[in-house]
Amino acid sequence: VENLNKVFRSRGGLFKPAREVHALREVSFSLVKGETIGIVGESGSGKSTLGRCVVRLEHPDSGTMKLSGTDFMNLKGEALRRERHRVQMIFQDPYASLNPRHRVGYAIAQGPLANGVPRAKAMAQADALLELVGLGGTADRFPHEFSGGQRQRIGIARALALEPELIVADEAVSALDVSIQAQILELLEELKQKLSLSLLFITHDLRVAAQICDRIIVMQHGRIVEQGPARDVFLAPQEAYTRQLLEAIP
Ligand code: ATP
Ligand code: MG
Repeated sequence: VENLNKVFRSRGGLFKPAREVHALREVSFSLVKGETIGIVGESGSGKSTLGRCVVRLEHPDSGTMKLSGTDFMNLKGEALRRERHRVQMIFQDPYASLNPRHRVGYAIAQGPLANGVPRAKAMAQADALLELVGLGGTADRFPHEFSGGQRQRIGIARALALEPELIVADEAVSALDVSIQAQILELLEELKQKLSLSLLFITHDLRVAAQICDRIIVMQHGRIVEQGPARDVFLAPQEAYTRQLLEAIP
């Protein structure tokens, strides 16, 4: 990722002034295949915007991103359709993206089906993915029949169905209680090893990032203020802002 910039402009109205938010300023970093990078920072620091740009849900004003040599940020049309499966996102609340009327097996198969995978094969893959995330035999159930932690597993299975190389996890464990958080982190770690995935792990919690990440990037007001090996950033932060984030951990 090189020199990403993103400004959100709101036009303003009778009672509110026009506003400009620099959500990303010259953000550059690189991620080695198989690595987990944590993106941490306070609310509003630009973490989700960065994640959304990386998965092509948002387009930056300027900057580039290459994925094993492909100029991923500027893919359009058919090429984008063909390549975008390579980067998938998992969200804080997978419930928001699961249609309550769809059985979870179908929800997981949906992406592959849209890409032309035959139905029987896509459904068999969905079964195998549910097994992989510890929910074997549940393809016929509906989202409301699962707990929050289980739904997060479904969200992960859904991302994996498209065989990504990189997963962006945006506050993927933040809404879960600590023991379930640990289970999901463990699952992500296990899947990473098995499938040689790379992970961009977005969280406001520096401690969670230190647990799972190889490297940590600290963001403030859209800018990277510190980055380094997770251990160094956690145990010996260079920036006052990073120390503040650490002090905020209860
Ligand atoms: P949080 O920890 O609360 O999730 P974040 O670090 O993910 O915060 P972003 O969601 O990336 O922060 O937002 C960065 C800034 O950009 C914020 O000031 C936010 O208000 C602004 N912003 C984000 N998305 C939009 C949008 N679609 N339109 C206007 N402003 C936006
Ligand atoms: Mg966010």
